[in-house]
Amino acid sequence: MLQQTQVVTVVPYYHRFMQHFPTPFHLSRADIQRVLKLWEGLGYYSRARNLHRPPARWSPGMPAGCPEDPRRFSRPSRRGRLHLRGSLEHRLQPGHRCRGWQCQTGAGAAFRIGYPRQSKRCTPLFPAIRDRLICHLRPGDFNQAMMELGALVCRPKHPDCAACPLADHCRAYQDRATAEYPKRDSARKVPHRHLAISVIVKKDKLLVVQREMEGFLGGLWEFPAIPMDPAGAAPGAIEAGMAETTGLTIRVVRRLTRIRHAYTHFTLSADVYLCRYVAGRVRLRQNPSHRWVSLKGLTRLPMHKANHKFIDALTAAWDEGGRASGRCAW
Ligand code: SF4
Repeated sequence: MLQQTQVVTVVPYYHRFMQHFPTPFHLSRADIQRVLKLWEGLGYYSRARNLHRPPARWSPGMPAGCPEDPRRFSRPSRRGRLHLRGSLEHRLQPGHRCRGWQCQTGAGAAFRIGYPRQSKRCTPLFPAIRDRLICHLRPGDFNQAMMELGALVCRPKHPDCAACPLADHCRAYQDRATAEYPKRDSARKVPHRHLAISVIVKKDKLLVVQREMEGFLGGLWEFPAIPMDPAGAAPGAIEAGMAETTGLTIRVVRRLTRIRHAYTHFTLSADVYLCRYVAGRVRLRQNPSHRWVSLKGLTRLPMHKANHKFIDALTAAWDEGGRASGRCAW
């Protein structure tokens, strides 16, 4: 995760993870839902699933630590190999070749690379720069230092050039052009999606569905949702959409809130509706499974951030509606 996220964000996750899974064997025996729960909020959930996957072939007799040599892992998946490589890069020994390098903001500025990072023209440039600069005696430390530089000093917005050890060699800094970096792809449009999310209540339980294990946010739980026009939807359209998606007859009680969330490849807005169960049995069209859970029970399930964004509003509505009767009244 240090390839994607700042150290300060990852540290508490690391400690929690190590507390629950001190060795790959413990990880291999864990329920994937528990693994995802401990990863919850960090994003890139396929990494948690792939991390869980390779050691599944490990046995108790195998060494507890992480092997230095990737070949000692028993044929992980292609993605698993990528993650192993990422992990091993933090502890590379002399002689190993460091193949990933994340401080592309700093490199882009220092060498005044005039293309956005995602552009095809950039693809060969960063590895070439990395190979020129890398310290072959301590490649792991070099890699770590460059990632820290990208996270703490040469930030995409407001780089701290006064504190930067590369300042004397940075062409952008020398040319007073640091504001021009990192280059952005102005032609790249991020798609936007809008959803109607239904919080369906049956007595004192809420309906949640699980996403397909493989794929985006795979294995996480969420409230059922349907694509919807951002201008809003008539309750009848939501009820009909939910009947198709879940097999249930429901009544929309009211709109709870609107949330927004940005993923790397699209942005999302969603209107959240409080709904009452009327009749029917759950028959899911896409999701592999469902559960009826209490509001408290939600905290035990791994859910993605977009759903977490309205849990406080939901709890307040629940308290409002539930206090008088001992159960939710909407
Ligand atoms: S001098 Fe400034 S722009 Fe150049 S690498 Fe350092 S922080 Fe980035």
